[in-house]
Amino acid sequence: MSEKIKLYDASKCTACRGCQLACKQWNALKAGQTEHKGTYQNPPTLQPNTYMIIHFQDYVAPEGDVRWLFRKEACMHCTKAACVTVCPSGALYYNKEFKTVGMDREKCIGCKECVSACPFEVPRYDKETEKVYKCDMCETRITNNMNPACVKACPTGALKWLDKDEALKIAEGRVQQLGGDANVYGDKFVGGTHLMYVLKEKMDVYDGIKKDPKVPQSIFVWKNLLKPLSLLAAGGVIGAELIHYMIRGPHKPHPEHYEEAKKQGGA
Ligand code: SF4
Ligand code: SF4
Ligand code: SF4
Repeated sequence: MSEKIKLYDASKCTACRGCQLACKQWNALKAGQTEHKGTYQNPPTLQPNTYMIIHFQDYVAPEGDVRWLFRKEACMHCTKAACVTVCPSGALYYNKEFKTVGMDREKCIGCKECVSACPFEVPRYDKETEKVYKCDMCETRITNNMNPACVKACPTGALKWLDKDEALKIAEGRVQQLGGDANVYGDKFVGGTHLMYVLKEKMDVYDGIKKDPKVPQSIFVWKNLLKPLSLLAAGGVIGAELIHYMIRGPHKPHPEHYEEAKKQGGA
């Protein structure tokens, strides 16, 4: 077994959302009531019960024609994962074989430190269960020699689960083949990510993509000084909230996600 990458080639994606559905099915995630908002993108953001979405975007190219841009959004499985650094309970961890970021939800104490720390704004907190949710790269599948469910479902070959060296080679080859502004996204941030994209257009034109994802400096304080303290809070959410308050203040991380998810029936 070796380090692996899930390679998403946006130029081959037809936005059929088979991957989104397969993710729901494998992880037994409930659907929520949604509203039509003039886009096929649905739900509009990640939710506690939606670990990945396909973004839909109309893009007016410099040549004047209108193009569809599609993009898969999910946990990027960072090599230097801020969420693992801050997690006080061991709920988030590196998979030893594949270097992806797994999750043991039983251990989650709902402190939301991973929500604040993630440079890609991925983890979602569920008020009802008081736990956090994100893609774990189908850990039970990949450790049993299966592809992640989204990869298995993809009918066009846009998603592949590959050894890292092969993935990098294929991605660079595809960029050469596409020419123009095509580029690889993910290999240059946070020590490299284990979900990587081949983008046909310049990164800058993709709505919502993180152009310079950075890990907040405060997490190093957390790691060295305050993380041991938070273990004292592991006995209850009130303690976890207190620790969060001491470090971050009274705000809720990314409140718009809660509101949007609530409107869409997913929170
Ligand atoms: S994208 Fe966020 S949640 Fe996923 S591994 Fe990186 S820091 Fe953790
Ligand atoms: S909410 Fe806290 S305990 Fe749960 S996964 Fe995130 S950092 Fe770890
Ligand atoms: S299943 Fe493949 S083609 Fe369909 S939306 Fe997902 S990545 Fe794109």
